[in-house]
Amino acid sequence: MSESDGSDGYERLFADPVRETMDGATYGTWRAITAPDAVSLAFGFPYPDALPNGKINEAVDTLLEADHEDALQYAGGDYADAITETVVERTRARGIECTEAEVHVTNGATHALDTVAQSFLDPDDTIAVEAPSYMGALRLFRNYGVDIEGYAMDENGLDVEAFAADLAAREEAGDALPKFLYTVPDFQNPTGVTLSVDRRKRLLELAETYDFLIVEDDPYGQLRYDGTTPEPIKSLDTDGRVVRVDTFSKTIAPGIRTGWVVADEAIVRELDRINAGGENVFTLGLIARYCEATDFEGDLDGLRAGYRERRDRMLESLEERMPAEADWSEPEGGFFVWVEFPEGIDAEDLLETAAEEGVTYLPGSYFFHDERGSRHARLSFSYVTPEEIDEGIAALARATRAELPA
Ligand code: PMP
Repeated sequence: MSESDGSDGYERLFADPVRETMDGATYGTWRAITAPDAVSLAFGFPYPDALPNGKINEAVDTLLEADHEDALQYAGGDYADAITETVVERTRARGIECTEAEVHVTNGATHALDTVAQSFLDPDDTIAVEAPSYMGALRLFRNYGVDIEGYAMDENGLDVEAFAADLAAREEAGDALPKFLYTVPDFQNPTGVTLSVDRRKRLLELAETYDFLIVEDDPYGQLRYDGTTPEPIKSLDTDGRVVRVDTFSKTIAPGIRTGWVVADEAIVRELDRINAGGENVFTLGLIARYCEATDFEGDLDGLRAGYRERRDRMLESLEERMPAEADWSEPEGGFFVWVEFPEGIDAEDLLETAAEEGVTYLPGSYFFHDERGSRHARLSFSYVTPEEIDEGIAALARATRAELPA
């Protein structure tokens, strides 16, 4: 292929959404990763000791012994079959009524979102998202050539009344209504904010009135460090409007790539039918065995303690070190704090100085489908130690002060 046309000669052959997003400009270039000596507040990963290596090892041994003829076969064995039951149990533990026919198991939440998008989206459809929203989901939805409408948030999550007003205006003008609203209601990625119960109920009313689905993506709901958890939107859903996505990435480990959808049986039937990815039956068997053998709720308490300590250290350090003109969210759970820098500071420009001072983060603009977010950053407290968090925030405060307009 010739390189003369600027994209190594393949440009004509790529699909429209791929060509249109090829420069990656909208979602950044992961510049943050190129500062290996800096403290990374960029990665939304579990901290290394949160990963249950020993228990996974035991589960593999038992699985291979118990299902020794089938564990590695195409269909998997009894434990692989039991995964749906395991997921039903985990879902009911969140207060959601659920049967096996309402569960579609996937290779993680991202795969679940992709399968949902593939099932519902045609090019030029409209979807609604929170602004800001989870970068990985925005990237994935863009692959489907849809129009993305972003709706503002405040400290109680999506501004549902502003969303309602826009839906009414769209209907009035004959403009497209969204096929679905994508929301991360608990400890949202990137803001850390939780959607209030009243707003959850109002969203369900809107979904019914304007005939759209709510895609509820909830990887962090069980990682609450203070206060009480609002009911999942799915648990309030009496009309089959909510397509719920969940994952073991944050409660067991991301590397096992196991997630699921809980939705009306009629939706799950189609998800099962169109899913061409196949199932990783060995991993599913492993997870079913793991859940049978472990005290899941007790282990969650341990994880909460580890993340709470990190969250507390980040908030204390921000309070102590950042200039008074900066502001940030105070999440009750999850992995992230959303910072607003003082006026005159661009978070993408600041990243260079910050990396020199010894910290990296993700600029806020990565989490918007349009040009917003330049004064914001997502700081993750999940991956590094409390001491490193303190060092990282000290570096961030030094960089911010150095770049403050006179
Ligand atoms: N949704 C949200 C909101 C997330 O923060 C993440 C993890 N970064 C995912 C989905 C991806 O989950 P999984 O690892 O299961 O694909």
